[in-house]
Amino acid sequence: MDRFFVQRMKTKWGSCSSARRSIRLNSELAKKPRECLEYLVVHEMVHLLEPTHNHRFTAFMDQFMPNWQFYREILKCILQVSLRQLTWQAVVLVAQDSGLTITNDLFRR
Ligand SMILES: [Zn+2]
Repeated sequence: MDRFFVQRMKTKWGSCSSARRSIRLNSELAKKPRECLEYLVVHEMVHLLEPTHNHRFTAFMDQFMPNWQFYREILKCILQVSLRQLTWQAVVLVAQDSGLTITNDLFRR
């Protein structure tokens, strides 16, 4: 990877271009739990090895970040809370509604 950008994005959490060998991440992620940011970095980096979300992609994800599915679920919960109302308590409530158990200390770091 040659370039790594963090910038304001309205519609996506991140993108990756294998051709340009660059990764872009939404600056809003800086406020999220570190593991969610890590999940997106790993996700975009795996796209440099495998462009689609096929079984090869998930095998790479399992290899590099064994609990990636958990952080993907947390990100989905974060996306359901509007940015204006984004507090960790709001995210935890959405997570509980969808049957996810997340501890508060995950969001305090
Ligand atoms: Zn992807």
